[in-house]
Amino acid sequence: MTKSLIILGSTGSIGESALRVVSSFPGEYRVQGLACRSNLKLLDRQIGEHGPSIVAVESDCASMADELNALKKKHPGVEFLTGTDGVAELASNESDILLSAISGAAGLRPTLAALGSAKRIALANKETLVMAGGLFMKMLRDRGTELVPVDSEHSAIFSLLDGKRRDEVERIILTASGGSMRDCPLDDLDRVTPEMALAHPTWDMGSKITIDSATLMNKGLEVIEAHHLFGIDYDRIGVVVHPDSIVHSMVETVDGAIYAHMGVPDMAFPIMNAFAYPQKRRNPFGRLDLEKIGSLRFGPCDPRRYPALGLCIAAGKAGGTVPAYMNAANEVAVETFLKKRILFTDIVKVVERSLERHRADGDPDIESIFEADREARKTTQNIIDKEM
Ligand code: NDP
Ligand code: MG
Repeated sequence: MTKSLIILGSTGSIGESALRVVSSFPGEYRVQGLACRSNLKLLDRQIGEHGPSIVAVESDCASMADELNALKKKHPGVEFLTGTDGVAELASNESDILLSAISGAAGLRPTLAALGSAKRIALANKETLVMAGGLFMKMLRDRGTELVPVDSEHSAIFSLLDGKRRDEVERIILTASGGSMRDCPLDDLDRVTPEMALAHPTWDMGSKITIDSATLMNKGLEVIEAHHLFGIDYDRIGVVVHPDSIVHSMVETVDGAIYAHMGVPDMAFPIMNAFAYPQKRRNPFGRLDLEKIGSLRFGPCDPRRYPALGLCIAAGKAGGTVPAYMNAANEVAVETFLKKRILFTDIVKVVERSLERHRADGDPDIESIFEADREARKTTQNIIDKEM
C-alpha cells in the first residue's frame, strides 16, 4: 500500500536524498507535504516532480514575497503555508511517515507537532533528542508514535540491536570519520578556514553538520542522541575514529563479540531503511566491494584535536537544559566561524565560555528548553561581540 510522506527540510542534503529514495521506489510513497526555509527554486522543482498537496516555507520575509506569489500561481492545486507556524501546521497533518530533516534547533518544534499525527517519525534532526530527549521519548510513548532513526550511526545500531537481548549488550560504539581536519597538524588548527573545514572527506552534507564533523561536536551530539534513542547509559557508549566511513557503527555483546554494520556512505541507505522498516529492501544505491576496500582503519579520538567531544558528552550527562543550551551556543559559534569572524579553534572555546554562564534547570518542561536555547544564543553572541 502506498505510504504518505511529509518531508521537513526537503531542500537540504537529507531532504534531497529522501526524494531520491522516493523516486527509486515508484508507487510506494506519495509525497504529501514538503517544507523548507527559503530555497524556492529547488522547492519549485520538487513540487513539479513529486506533486505534494501542501508545502510550507518558513521564511516569510518581504524580499521573497514576489517569488513566493509566482510559485503559488504556478502551482494552483498546492496549499501554501508560511512561517514557523506554517511548518508546524504541515507537520501536524496525518501521515504514514514524517521525515524530520530540518537542520538545527529549528527542527524541534515541528517534530513535536508531528507527535500523534505521524504514524512514524523518521528522525534525522538529532537536535530533537539532544535538546529534549527525555521529554520527547516520553511523549512518543504517550502518543503512540513510532520513531526510526535516520542518522547513519543510529540506523546501524537500530538494525544491529534488532533481535538481540538488551541484557546481552555490553556497549555500543559509534564510528566517526574524524572530519575534514583529522590529518591537520594540531598547531595549524587555528588557521583552518571555512572552505577547508567544509571539505568533508567521505560524506556530502549540509554546512552546519560538516563543521560539527570537523570539530567532532557532531559525534558528541550523536552520543546524546544514542543515549535517549536506545536508553543506554553514557558510560556504555564508545566513540572510535574510522576514517573509511564503511562501518557505520557497532554493538559489543557481553561475550566480547563486536557486530559491525557496513554499507556504502550514502544517506539514501539509512533513509530507505527508516522508510521501509521492518522490511529490508533491495538497495539501488550501491554496494560495498570488500576486495577493493582492502582494509579498514580504527583509531582513538585525540582530545587535543577534538575537545568538543568531551564537552558535549559532559553536557549530555549534566542533562536538564544543559544540552539544549550547548547545542544553541554551538550553532551560534559555527555560524560565526562560517562568516570568518572567529577561528576554527574558537568554536569550542566560545561554547565552553557560554556554558559557564548557564544556570541550568535540572527538570525542565519544553518551554524551559526553548528558553535555554534563546538564552544561549544571546549570551554566546555577547561573548563573541565583546570578548573574541
Ligand atoms: P541542510 O543544511 O542540507 O538542509 C537543511 C534543510 O532544513 C533545508 O531544507 C532548509 O531549507 C531547511 N531549514 C533550515 N532551517 C529551517 C527552518 N527554520 N524552518 C524550516 N526549514 C528549515 O542540512 P542536512 O540535510 O545536512 O541536515 C538536516 C538534519 O539532518 C540535521 O539535523 C543534521 O544533523 C541531520 N543529519 C544530516 C546528515 C547528512 O548527511 N546531511 C546525516 C545525519 C543527520 P532551505 O534549503 O530553504 O534553507
Ligand atoms: Mg551521523
